[in-house]
Amino acid sequence: MAKLKVRTPIVEIDGDEMTRIIWAMIKEKLIVPYLDVDLKYYDLGVQKRDETDDAVTIDAAKAIQAYGVGVKCATITPDDERVGEFGLKKAWLSPNGTIRSILDGAVFRKPILVKNISPAVRSWKKPIIIGRHAYGDLYQCVEMAVDKPGTVELVYRSADGLEDRLLVHEFTGPGVAMGFHNLENSIRSFAQSCINCALGEKYELWFSMKDTISKIYHGSFKNIFAEEVTARQSDFENAGIQYRYMLIDDAAAQIMKQEGNILWAVSNYDGDVFSDVIAAGFGSLGMMTSVLVSPDGKYEYEAAHGTVRRHYYEHLKGNPTSTNSVASIFAWTGGIRKRGELDNAPDVTSFGEKIEQAVIQCIESGIVTKDLVTLMDPKPAGYETTEGFIDAVSWRLMSMM
Ligand code: NAP
Ligand code: MG
Repeated sequence: MAKLKVRTPIVEIDGDEMTRIIWAMIKEKLIVPYLDVDLKYYDLGVQKRDETDDAVTIDAAKAIQAYGVGVKCATITPDDERVGEFGLKKAWLSPNGTIRSILDGAVFRKPILVKNISPAVRSWKKPIIIGRHAYGDLYQCVEMAVDKPGTVELVYRSADGLEDRLLVHEFTGPGVAMGFHNLENSIRSFAQSCINCALGEKYELWFSMKDTISKIYHGSFKNIFAEEVTARQSDFENAGIQYRYMLIDDAAAQIMKQEGNILWAVSNYDGDVFSDVIAAGFGSLGMMTSVLVSPDGKYEYEAAHGTVRRHYYEHLKGNPTSTNSVASIFAWTGGIRKRGELDNAPDVTSFGEKIEQAVIQCIESGIVTKDLVTLMDPKPAGYETTEGFIDAVSWRLMSMM
């Protein structure tokens, strides 16, 4: 069988630990046998980032800007423990943070629903997408430890020499302080991306901040969102969908009582937390997809979970693992479907869809990894190993070709 030719390259970003193992299996068994595609490969494994002083991360982000579509394996964000574990030069920044700050835009996380898994939250029947702002906040903050009494101030010096100062705190003893920022353009494009996504899916759009406490920072997010929604009022009416602003704590409680078909837009930090809450509520972190959409229409697909470190250590000991590869497979298929769409190549798009169907059919016929067993109804007789599941998808895919 001739391979399907993909016209434009796809940027492939490799990662770490268990997901790196899974990533290679997916590529070998589900992608390379079928697609003739020029993969622009960037190794973001933590050692490679260290070797290149993290230049490889910036190169990977630029490649996505150049080619428009990237697929990314999960990567380690090193902390002090990881610096010791791998003998790194330093605790390099989060690669996702770096890529997001270069591409900007929003991250959309959507659970994969299957018939034989009911969400832990009983009212959830349809997807809830988290729309996470991809710029600023905690992820581009500066912070300092204060070890003696003294004053921390926030100082703004305008380009024309004016100065504005605010007292952060008069420290009488040791403490810590932090500075956040955001950009009006980035907030606006975040709002626009979320509006486009909600209109495209015909999902109700929610947006939540904490503007009662942070009247200027969070307040400006609320106002900009409202302006952008007002500008698209007729599109909302035509699509028959609503926009709701709620305080983040109110929304967190309300979301538990909804059926779904909601795009819940939140700040960068809230998105980090609530995408894991939503993923766990729907079943498993292994079933949550994630895509970064930049304002100029560049796409990076990944799994929402991390490198599944505990499973990797078992793998290194030679023990069998049963790690869920579904979200990593959907990172590949999301990129392939988008590449097909952008290249106007429906055969490429439908190949991406075929892999997804093969995955769903496996799960719905009871072929699953261990994390899903307790969630399933009816309960499967057993579970597959990491590789066993990917092989099952591969056989099913072969029979569909
Ligand atoms: P994790 O990889 O998300 O895994 C945490 C736990 O969740 C696992 O131990 C496992 O639970 C369960 N889990 C997550 N994904 C699973 C899957 N696909 N199949 C089955 N179970 C799954 O988080 P971590 O192990 O705490 O973090 C490891 C590294 O990932 C960290 O260095 C962190 O920096 C990085 N990280 C990267 C990204 C990213 O690149 N997008 C995101 C988050 C974290 P059990 O142990 O109970 O089986
Ligand atoms: Mg996270």
